[in-house]
Amino acid sequence: MIVGILKEIKAEENRVAMTPAGVEVMNHHGHTLLVEKNAGMGSGFDNAAYDDAGAEIVATPGDIFERADMVMHVKEPLPVEYDLIRENQILFTYLHLAAAEALTRALIKSKAVCIAYETIQKTDGSLPLLTPMSEVAGRMAIQQGAKYLEIAQGGHGMLLGGVPGVDPGIVLIIGGGTVGINAAKMACGLGAKVYLLDNNLERLRYLSDVMPANCFLLYSSPAAIRDLVTRADVVVGAVLIPGAKTPKLITREMLKTMKPGSVIVDVAVDQGGCCETSRATTHSNPTYKVDGIVHYCVANMPGAVPKTSTLALTNATLPYAVEIAGKGWQAAMRSNPEIRRGANVVNGKVTCNGVAEAFTMDL
Ligand code: NAD
Repeated sequence: MIVGILKEIKAEENRVAMTPAGVEVMNHHGHTLLVEKNAGMGSGFDNAAYDDAGAEIVATPGDIFERADMVMHVKEPLPVEYDLIRENQILFTYLHLAAAEALTRALIKSKAVCIAYETIQKTDGSLPLLTPMSEVAGRMAIQQGAKYLEIAQGGHGMLLGGVPGVDPGIVLIIGGGTVGINAAKMACGLGAKVYLLDNNLERLRYLSDVMPANCFLLYSSPAAIRDLVTRADVVVGAVLIPGAKTPKLITREMLKTMKPGSVIVDVAVDQGGCCETSRATTHSNPTYKVDGIVHYCVANMPGAVPKTSTLALTNATLPYAVEIAGKGWQAAMRSNPEIRRGANVVNGKVTCNGVAEAFTMDL
């Protein structure tokens, strides 16, 4: 199969859909790789690295869409690309169609086979192509929290880990899933006193087996959150209720009880956020203050560390790309239900429940 790797064109997006190491693996499986010029630059991979790995460097996205049987992106196609997508062409990328009607209609019109990273799902319900980005965001949350505690950054001027003879800071993490456990590991490693809350008892039991002694696990309730926000120096929002808007667990009223200059890192802001005063921000202007509390609410945190994010994402996508390219999309979907769940729009028909429901379309 001819597989095309596009350069990302969305603002602030420096990831790339395949590394040179991935190109080498695809080549070994007998595929031809086209990589758009400079596609990997933002992630630290120059054209020569792709050339050495066996890819053909092509000048324009138009060349890729014209020649490739399967096109890979990281983010969804933008309007300038809509008319380039061809009938029967496989498009493999993050799509998030339920929030993008114009794109959905463009993909229906294209009659392409559109497989979304975010709906590839294992039988245990986990989402293997979202997990790596939650791992990155969870770990970054503590780095950002620690940074914005510094006085010059608007914080109240505390070193999260403390020093011998001086107490460490207190970190409250609401939600003990992938983001939460990764944030907790980082905060515990720094030496902070960490409270990790979840409302799933099974998950709390698991976490209590694996987390270190400076991580205190509590059942999540409004009373627990009301109490802990008054003591916390950094609060991390890491809640997810699949298919629903994030509940507002930290109210505006609670902000008034927090220490001025403490920091809220609302990782869940991409689903609305779990703090009433959260609104999405960007890497170029990541924070704002409400009632003296620093809010860090970047909706695409992994975008700040494209070298790590690209490697983490492509480690997860490559086996699926190998399977789809090797078997063809029909056989891959027949034999692997994970890939079948990834199908969002196929030959002009919406094939994903969530997308059809969002726009009251027929499946
Ligand atoms: P996850 O499903 O692994 O974990 C969510 C956890 O929240 C679960 O353990 C669940 O039991 C818990 N939960 C649900 N309701 C709760 C409540 N009332 N109190 C406490 N815990 C509760 O999800 P995840 O992968 O960790 O993602 C968390 C959030 O981070 C999502 O909204 C996701 O979209 C977001 N995210 C944002 C970025 C970013 O760049 N901002 C990047 C990755 C993920």
